[in-house]
Amino acid sequence: MKTIKAIRGMNDISPAEVSYWQLFEDTARSVLAAYGYQEMRPPIVERTELFQRSVGESTDIVEKEMYTFEDRSGDSLTLRPECTASCVRAAVEHGWLRGGGVRIWHIGPMFRYERPQKGRYRQFHQLDVEALGFPGPDVDAELILISARLWKRLGLKNIRLEINSLGARDAQAAYRQTLVDYFGAHREALDEDSLRRLGSNPLRILDSKNPELQALITDAPAPVDHLDAQSADHFEGLKRALREAGVAFEVNKRLVRGLDYYTGTVFEWLTDELGAQNAVCGGGRYDGLIEEIGGPATPATGFALGIERLVELLKVQQVVPMEASPHAYLVAVGDRAGQLALALAERIRDQSPGLRLLVDAGKGSFKAKLKRADRSSARFALIIGDSEAEAGTVGVKDLRSNHPQTTIAQTEIGGFFHQQVLN
Ligand code: AMP
Repeated sequence: MKTIKAIRGMNDISPAEVSYWQLFEDTARSVLAAYGYQEMRPPIVERTELFQRSVGESTDIVEKEMYTFEDRSGDSLTLRPECTASCVRAAVEHGWLRGGGVRIWHIGPMFRYERPQKGRYRQFHQLDVEALGFPGPDVDAELILISARLWKRLGLKNIRLEINSLGARDAQAAYRQTLVDYFGAHREALDEDSLRRLGSNPLRILDSKNPELQALITDAPAPVDHLDAQSADHFEGLKRALREAGVAFEVNKRLVRGLDYYTGTVFEWLTDELGAQNAVCGGGRYDGLIEEIGGPATPATGFALGIERLVELLKVQQVVPMEASPHAYLVAVGDRAGQLALALAERIRDQSPGLRLLVDAGKGSFKAKLKRADRSSARFALIIGDSEAEAGTVGVKDLRSNHPQTTIAQTEIGGFFHQQVLN
């Protein structure tokens, strides 16, 4: 029969790889707790309208990348392509903004129908961090410091920070016209994509990777040169805060983002070690979004980090995750011992919380069982035969040294492991 394969662009995370993911997730949890951010878990499916209104009708995401379907009652639903919209929807729906600001985060899968390639998938995972209700550049800086601390705690190097400001909504509208006039005067030089964007989303032309357009883009008016006074002040405040905290950055006047809701600050963390998909993390301020989706006018800022790319970077930079191999492997030989093995393993786990103990399963000779113990990468084999079962003892063999096998009482095993592997 024909085998069934996973969907293109949607990956399995294998047991061999999952330790990298856990290293990232554990570190992220601990860093975010250190800044007082709280986890939230929104659903993966939302009403399509939420993304149309937030991400923007004329973005690539909404135009051609969403997994949208009708459910059985005829409602149009979408697998979330990003998570800010869900966080904001939840905050408004449950009144989280009433008590002042909220700082929240979420880790989970996102879905975009993009052309899959290395570092770009159709199901990918993001850490999403959002601070709702804070107007100042201090919280933009805080988000950047959180990501910087994450790199530091993970031992990652060579991730550089680019920042820019897109200005407030009104300034953006005026600047947009300036941009349309500029590119409109060079229509003949634009490619098909940019011509389309000229009418719908001219800012995105600045983001084009077409080498033939780069000279034109370099000379184009930049949003940061057309800021309203408040956004200019805000941007200066952010730069000052970053300098104060010792975070290096570069202002990239062409930095725009793929979603429409950004106002003011935008930033991206980039690496040269992953090829074309070089952005590991991006975010910025979205002061208009909460009102646009029906909530009270509330300033907000956040970022999303691509976990696949970060895991790849951990591998490239040879950051070694903690070993997940078992500490011990329990082998039972003989009928009586075989009947006792599972119960004994339970008692050992009671005595030694944190111990990773694998119980041998399947048939085979003592030799075959010891071979399996060795292959499990466990440090110790625990061996119980009928005589040990009778005497209430267990044989302990250090699989990684030549020390002879010893025998200890079953009641002593907790103490033994505490001394050997858990302290
Ligand atoms: P965005 O939500 O587009 O601002 O993206 C934020 C981060 O998510 C990017 O910097 C990437 O690291 C990651 N990302 C976005 N799209 C994809 C994708 N299709 N596959 C893998 N990672 C992605």
